Amino acid sequence: MHIKTLFKKYLSFIMVMSLFATCVFGCAPKPQDVFEQEADQWFDTFSDAQSVVKSKVTYEYSKTGSVAVSKPSIAIVDADLSVSAYYDKMKSEFRAKAMSDQDKLFISYKSYKASDDITGIEVNCQQILGGNKTGYIKTFNIDSNGLIEIADTLRRITLINARDLIMADQQYSSVVDKNALRSSEDYQLLYTDTGIDVIYDSKALTSALDEQITVQVPYSKIRFALPDSIKAVVAQDDSVRTVDITKKLVALTFDDGPNKTYTNEILDVLEAYNSVATFFDLGSIMNNAPQAMQRASQLGCEMGSHSYSHKNLKTASVDKIKEEISSTDAVFEEILGYKPTLLRPPYGAVGSDLKENCDKYLIGWSVDTLDWKNRDKDKVVASVKSEGDLDGDVILMHSIYKSTAQAVEELVPWLIENGYQLVTVSELMKYRFETEMETGKYYSSQFFESHK
Ligand code: ZN
Repeated sequence: MHIKTLFKKYLSFIMVMSLFATCVFGCAPKPQDVFEQEADQWFDTFSDAQSVVKSKVTYEYSKTGSVAVSKPSIAIVDADLSVSAYYDKMKSEFRAKAMSDQDKLFISYKSYKASDDITGIEVNCQQILGGNKTGYIKTFNIDSNGLIEIADTLRRITLINARDLIMADQQYSSVVDKNALRSSEDYQLLYTDTGIDVIYDSKALTSALDEQITVQVPYSKIRFALPDSIKAVVAQDDSVRTVDITKKLVALTFDDGPNKTYTNEILDVLEAYNSVATFFDLGSIMNNAPQAMQRASQLGCEMGSHSYSHKNLKTASVDKIKEEISSTDAVFEEILGYKPTLLRPPYGAVGSDLKENCDKYLIGWSVDTLDWKNRDKDKVVASVKSEGDLDGDVILMHSIYKSTAQAVEELVPWLIENGYQLVTVSELMKYRFETEMETGKYYSSQFFESHK
């Protein structure tokens, strides 16, 4: 008989005997086996089949607290030391508190290959102490030199997108405080294979949830800011509108429309340059050019209200204010299927009655082209070009003049050539000023000037 076969036979004999012994002494599984089984189940729920980093599993059963660990073996020494130090810290903190065999600590991880060079590792700890279960997450982002930080621009654009995703999720939007979310520094970022995970410690944001809040910002949304090795594997998706915060941002706005001819001419230019603007239309004439409004909205332009009949809403009665707003909302909704969130008050006239009786963000401007007065293409163009740095500016024009449409034809390519990205008013607020707009607040020229 071959020596290996002999050894196998010997081994199976031992196994049968030990099984027999277990059964003789009461058939109860050993607590250590139960613990290991529980740990394996937990590892299964938290490790993924695609883990790109090999793991090493250890179990340390003890009557005063047991620890089961699945730990990545990382070839890069510096990164391996940091991850190991975290595992050791979690273990020693647990051991200092654990007292019974019901106290347990499980540590596992998931790993993601974001690119040839970049790996994200998410370590998940589950701790049971005195019957209380607590979960902890810690992320590590690694390249071939060791741990990496996520660069400032990428961090900023990722967080802006993450906040949008959280507030768009009904599960969170009703319980998370917007301002706490914006100022929270209790978050971690993780490179995965499809996007950056943003993991917030929910305790800082709401008392209604005790788990972490995790959202994933897809790479296609933040491509311009990604490290080269990831950018190389993420296809540019032109159907996804992205705002590049490394560019200067400017918002063109057009009041007093819609106009069948000139709104469309302005949209022709915007469409040709893959750009957007914001239109503040009048309720009383919306039905003259509903298709122009629908076209603008479909192109990604922002549509706002400019009242119904161009009434001065500072001097109007409260009843009149409410009527001007609601009758515009009604026509607007009929044409576009949603209500406007922005209102540009006619003449920029804002008083406390308007502020207190409107459910919209009141939007002013910072550059006045006086196109309504001059009706001269060259003067409109010159008024913008002579402003100097336009980053963060809201430019006021009107979509009812031929001269304005002609000026737009020259201004849009000029702005793009000069490094600007044309955005909507809401995008400017979000990406340039990182402002959470409030209803009834007037974002006047003072606001834009003080934030520039
Ligand atoms: Zn107007």
